[in-house]
Amino acid sequence: MDLELSPRHLEFRDECRSWLAANKPARPLRSMDTAAGFEEHREWERVLFDGGWSVPGWPASYGGRDCDLIEWLIYEEEYWLSGAPGRVSANGVSLLAPTIFNFGTQAQQDHFLPKMASGEHIWAQGWSEPGAGSDLAAIATRAIRDGDHYVLNGQKTWCSRGAFADWIFCIVRTDPEAERHAGLTYLLVPADAPGLERRPIGRLDGEPGFAELFFDDCRVRVDNVLGEEGQGWAVAMAAAGSERGLNLRSPGRFMAAAERLTELVRTLRAEQREIDPRRRDEVTDAWIRAQAYRWQTYATAARLMDGAELGSEASLMKVFWSELDLELHATALRLLGDRGELAAGAPDAVDGGRWLDGYVFALSGPIYAGTNEIQRNIIAERVLGLPRR
Ligand SMILES: Cc1cc2nc3c(=O)[nH]c(=O)nc-3n(C[C@H](O)[C@H](O)[C@H](O)COP(=O)(O)OP(=O)(O)OC[C@H]3O[C@@H](n4cnc5c(N)ncnc54)[C@H](O)[C@@H]3O)c2cc1C
Repeated sequence: MDLELSPRHLEFRDECRSWLAANKPARPLRSMDTAAGFEEHREWERVLFDGGWSVPGWPASYGGRDCDLIEWLIYEEEYWLSGAPGRVSANGVSLLAPTIFNFGTQAQQDHFLPKMASGEHIWAQGWSEPGAGSDLAAIATRAIRDGDHYVLNGQKTWCSRGAFADWIFCIVRTDPEAERHAGLTYLLVPADAPGLERRPIGRLDGEPGFAELFFDDCRVRVDNVLGEEGQGWAVAMAAAGSERGLNLRSPGRFMAAAERLTELVRTLRAEQREIDPRRRDEVTDAWIRAQAYRWQTYATAARLMDGAELGSEASLMKVFWSELDLELHATALRLLGDRGELAAGAPDAVDGGRWLDGYVFALSGPIYAGTNEIQRNIIAERVLGLPRR
């Protein structure tokens, strides 16, 4: 086993690093869950695209660099270590794009992929409903065929940045008579479709990006179906693998947080603050776990490049990264003590209040992308082979 990067990979890493150092925004952008911050993040997507760095793993013909998985992991590490902004395009690039590459027609690929890569189309995920979260097959939003359109009626919820997105990838019920998983269809819905209303969900931080969607005789063209009508479950599950596993949360994000954690220890020492010895073990553990996730992911990437499938292992990775994220942020808050409660903008907030912000977001990690309880059920049944209850 060779754990060193090859000269080609080192050169690639240096290229990413110097481009990001020269081009990343000078100041943090506003939150992408606000209207103004959303547009600032869209502009950053355009800068990335113009530099050839928005979707390095895609084919060059769609704006990428044809990077392999190892190069993509290196890029992600450099991206997060550079402190560049979060990706407002993540849902589209990580969750929808693999599905379009797998199931899209040539016309759909040619139309949607370049616009996604450049940030012209920012996508949101419209899967969850008030009665369908973990039990996604209970989706009740109906899409009934009327000529060359579907007519949609129903409600979606918990739609991240759904208030501002340009397009929403939905799962809808096209055959109300069919049993659960059958009768579902994967549909690409323009956010300005007549009959679609988007309402922000009141969040504690007051930011309005998270939305509910209401379809009231909303008409969507039939050629926006991804895959075949009635095959929505299979199409959606292909994307769920990307979400839980490699694509949505690469190790770079957690390695960057682990580096910030060690930097925080240095800062506290420089300020001659007393550090509880128990915190030393917690920092070390969190840092080691971030490294473990990194090496596990590299090993998985190498296997995928040899033709293996990700499968249920994605659930193991999802549980690991979501719990690691919480551990990293909770450790930082414990180190900071009272100062950890200072939010962004407070004069004495350490690291711009990012640890508190990050902690609050990390709390949702065990819920989104399929709850960790559900992932543990999948691991028990499909990885460990335990009997179904
Ligand atoms: C920050 C955030 C962003 C999100 N963004 C999006 C988005 O952009 N688009 C989208 O479509 N959805 C999004 N979601 C929704 C998310 O996918 C759902 O919250 C999640 O799938 C759980 O569904 P639910 O909320 O309906 O909870 P429920 O399914 O009602 O579950 C409630 C509790 O019961 C547990 N439970 C349920 N069934 C079982 C079982 N069989 N065995 C053991 N335990 C079980 C769950 O683990 C959970 O703890 C987001 C959620 C969050 C928190």
